[in-house]
Amino acid sequence: MIIDLRSDTVTKPTKGMLDAMLTADVGDDVYKEDPSVNRLEERLADMFGMDEALFFPTGSMANQAALKLHTNPGEQVICDKYAHIYNYEGGGASFNSGISCKLIDGHRGMFTTEQAKASINPPDFYHSPLTSLIAVENTTNKGGGACWDFEELKKLRQLANDNGLGYHLDGARLWNALVASDQTPKHYGELFDTISVCLSKGLGCPMGSVLIGKKELMQNAIRVRKILGGGMRQVGFAAAAGLFALDNHIERLAEDHKKAKEIGEVLVKNEAIEKVEPIETNIIIFELKSHIDETQFLDDLSEKGIKIIGMGSNKLRIVTHLDYTNEMHYKLLETLT
Ligand SMILES: *Cc1c(COP(=O)(O)O)cnc(C)c1O
Repeated sequence: MIIDLRSDTVTKPTKGMLDAMLTADVGDDVYKEDPSVNRLEERLADMFGMDEALFFPTGSMANQAALKLHTNPGEQVICDKYAHIYNYEGGGASFNSGISCKLIDGHRGMFTTEQAKASINPPDFYHSPLTSLIAVENTTNKGGGACWDFEELKKLRQLANDNGLGYHLDGARLWNALVASDQTPKHYGELFDTISVCLSKGLGCPMGSVLIGKKELMQNAIRVRKILGGGMRQVGFAAAAGLFALDNHIERLAEDHKKAKEIGEVLVKNEAIEKVEPIETNIIIFELKSHIDETQFLDDLSEKGIKIIGMGSNKLRIVTHLDYTNEMHYKLLETLT
C-alpha cells in the first residue's frame, strides 16, 4: 500500500466519475459545440452568480488568462510573496502578459488591505509601473491551506474600487475554503471580477479548471485561451468529470479536513518535529527540529510506503485527498506516533 500525500492532485477518477466520462455527450468545443463543456460552464457561472465561465486545461492557464485580461504590458499586479501566480506558473506573468508582480510580505500567503494600499503605485508617478490588479489566493497553497477572512476580502474589493484596479481570485482550492467557512460561491461571485477554480485538486478530476467572471472581461477570454494554446476539441469527457465532481465531491472535502487535523494532532507530539502550522483545511505544513535531516526523514517514510514532499528550509508538506482512505489514515497515524 502506497500512501501518497504529496498533493491532492495525485487522485485517480472514481468508478462513478469514469462512468460519467464514458457516457458524456461531446462535440467540438473550439466551435462551442460540446454540450458537456457548455453545461459545466453555465453551471459554474450560475453557481457563482457571475456572467460567464470558460473551461481551461489547467489552473495555471486560467490564472494566466486572467492576468492577461486585467492588464497591459508594463503594468503590475499586487500579490503575496507566496502566490502561485508568482512562484509556480513558470514566470508566466512576465512571459505571457509582460507584467511584473509587486510582492507583499504577508502572513501564510495572505495580506492586509493596508499592505495592499501601500503597494499601489501612484498612477500619476510615471516612473513606476502602473498598478492594475490585486490577486489573492484562497485557500493559500504555500501558506498551508489557510483561509482568508472574508471581511478582509471585502475591504480589498473596496480598495480595488477606490483605485480602479481589477480583483482576481486564484481559487484552485476555493472549494476547501467554502467547506471550511460559512460563505457560498455567490458571496465570492459578488466580490471578484474573475475567479479561477480547479477541478483537478480536491474535487478529484483528471484535469480542468474554470475561469468565471464578469462579461466585460470574459468576452476576450476565449481569444486569450486560444493564444495560450488552450482551445480544446471533444473535451466534454473531462467536463463530465467536473460535473460529476460538483455533485459528489464538494461536501466530502470536510473529511479531508478532519483527517488533516488528526494528522496534525499526532505530529505535534512527534519528537522529530519542531512546529506544526495551524491546520484549517487539507494542507499540513510542519517543520523538523534542526538536528533532524530532512532527506533522511523523507527516506524513512518512503521506505514505509509514505510519500510526502519537502518545501525547503526543513519544512515538509502533507496534503489529504479523495484517494486517501481510512485504512491509509490509520496506518499513517500509527507510523507518525
Ligand atoms: C494547483 C494550483 C493552481 C493551478 O495549477 P495547475 O497545476 O496548473 O492546474 C493554481 N493556484 C494554486 C494556488 C494551486 O494550488
